[in-house]
Amino acid sequence: MSRIPLIAGNWKMYKTVPEAVETAEKLAALCQSIHSVEVMIAPNFLAIHPVAAVCKNSPVKIGAQNLYFEKQGAFTGEVSAGMIKAAGAEYVIIGHSERRQLFGESDSFVAKKIKSAIGCGLKPILCVGETEAQRDEEKTFQVPDKQVSDGLKGCGSDELKDLVLAYEPVWAIGTGKSATTDQVNTVHQYLRSLTAKLYSTTFADQVRILYGGSVKPENVSALMDLKDVDGALVGGASLEADTFINIIRFDT
Ligand code: PEP
Repeated sequence: MSRIPLIAGNWKMYKTVPEAVETAEKLAALCQSIHSVEVMIAPNFLAIHPVAAVCKNSPVKIGAQNLYFEKQGAFTGEVSAGMIKAAGAEYVIIGHSERRQLFGESDSFVAKKIKSAIGCGLKPILCVGETEAQRDEEKTFQVPDKQVSDGLKGCGSDELKDLVLAYEPVWAIGTGKSATTDQVNTVHQYLRSLTAKLYSTTFADQVRILYGGSVKPENVSALMDLKDVDGALVGGASLEADTFINIIRFDT
């Protein structure tokens, strides 16, 4: 089965609304001729709606960086899946390592978010990956295995047809030190077999697995050449349209 590559930009807590709109406008113009790759940017919550408006007639899709799993209510400071969808997003990043590490998000919390995203028709990008200490303790497979198995607990394969997984070794995020192609290859193969074990080989064949961790224009092609790498989740190098487009055009 052919899986359409997804190049996704996580803008984290960068850019005011006008700055986000300006970058999105530039990127939308640069992406007009991109057809064989899906492109997504995830600005902060405030910028989702205006960025979605400027990307409307372009191939650039919009995502959120997080959500809260309740539909609505007295949850001060939180934003629901339905609100994100109504603002113009199609994707949502869930379980990013920064949320797990800085905000204490557990796998069961992540699972509730996945359920909530699916329930509202948002496509979840579930992030998993080991820390450097866990790699040193030889838990490189065990950690993402648990994060995927527990994060998807209670979801059937029919509900997860739009699921995207992102393998992001924590030690490679924002460090400039990308994982080697061998390291990426073995974990991506492991995760694909895991999805076959959890669901089916048909499911495993169609689920997209992105790599994230210091992806740049210089290393993206080698990563994208790997059979089980279906795209990239990009932080720092997605912030400038001129740099990000060189990642999106990895095959030219
Ligand atoms: C990320 O935040 O998901 C990420 C991969 O960041 P960077 O590309 O900056 O390492």
